[in-house]
Amino acid sequence: MTYVLVTGGAGYIGSHACKALKQAGYTPVTYDNLVTGWQDAVKFGPFEQGDLTDRTRLDEVFARYQPVAVMHFAALSQVGEAMSEPGRYWANNVGGSLCLIEAAVAAGCLDFVFSSTCATYGEHDNVVLDENTPQQPLNAYGASKRAVEDILRDFEAAYGLRSVIFRYFNVAGADPEAEVGEFHQPETHLVPLMIQAIKGERAALTVFGTDYDTPDGTCIRDYVHVCDLVDAHILGLKWLEEGKGSRVFNLGTGSGFSVKEVLSHSRAVTNTEVPHVIGERRAGDCTKLVSGSVRAGHELGWEPKRSTLDQMIADAWRWHQSGHYER
Ligand code: UDP
Repeated sequence: MTYVLVTGGAGYIGSHACKALKQAGYTPVTYDNLVTGWQDAVKFGPFEQGDLTDRTRLDEVFARYQPVAVMHFAALSQVGEAMSEPGRYWANNVGGSLCLIEAAVAAGCLDFVFSSTCATYGEHDNVVLDENTPQQPLNAYGASKRAVEDILRDFEAAYGLRSVIFRYFNVAGADPEAEVGEFHQPETHLVPLMIQAIKGERAALTVFGTDYDTPDGTCIRDYVHVCDLVDAHILGLKWLEEGKGSRVFNLGTGSGFSVKEVLSHSRAVTNTEVPHVIGERRAGDCTKLVSGSVRAGHELGWEPKRSTLDQMIADAWRWHQSGHYER
């Protein structure tokens, strides 16, 4: 078997990556501490419970499976929380990643796929966000991801670690077969919150600010379907296997949608008005994050197939109606 170690494989993006890995002929080994992940999302390969900061446990897992590569998803990822509890972001996202990277190098596992974020770019007025845009994160989440990118570069120079770094824009949607999907506790992301509000599982959604410098005053984001996103990871893994070396890729579609536009698409797809109220800005939010890069398409051959807003909302909606969603 060809094992790939997937940290955070019990989480939203990690569980979709495990499914894609299995479909591509690999065996994903999920390494997850279940703090934000769910064991019942581990369906496509072995599960090893452990913390990123537990070097002994990591060494055991590397020795047991001898994975050909690491896909590193495990991280804290909430902008609001990163503003109020930055220490957790530095300890978990940076300290934990450092421990993992050191364990990978010690085990001779030198192909590394890392989930980074467009939040590393921060606020840029009227600038196309491509991979060369200066990284000026506005919050500890983005700063912690940028720091891990730096660690990967240093470890390449010192030990020959090769990395594909993906800077995600806003990931949404779910597996169309609804085997896995998005479930965070607490939920903070726009699409699942909207669906929960429609289903009456929570009070009205709060729109975080209508006074941004955008056409309708709400923040603009570039939404990418989770299945397209994980397809890019398989291509990234093959890129490393083919010896093409370290590379950074943005993963976004290049189309931006405001919060109000997402709400109106949601109404069209689900035939239901999203109950919502207008609220204050959320600390740490950028006005607009839209990818201006075609690198993943040109170099990896990545072609998003399901990343229309309507498809993402429809797939998320289907997952939320499925029995798997209930916990
Ligand atoms: N958003 C909102 N209300 C919410 C959650 C999110 O208005 O309850 C907005 C948020 O300000 C941002 C967009 O929706 O402009 C996407 O936020 P999300 O947390 O999903 O992703 P992020 O952009 O933080 O990665």
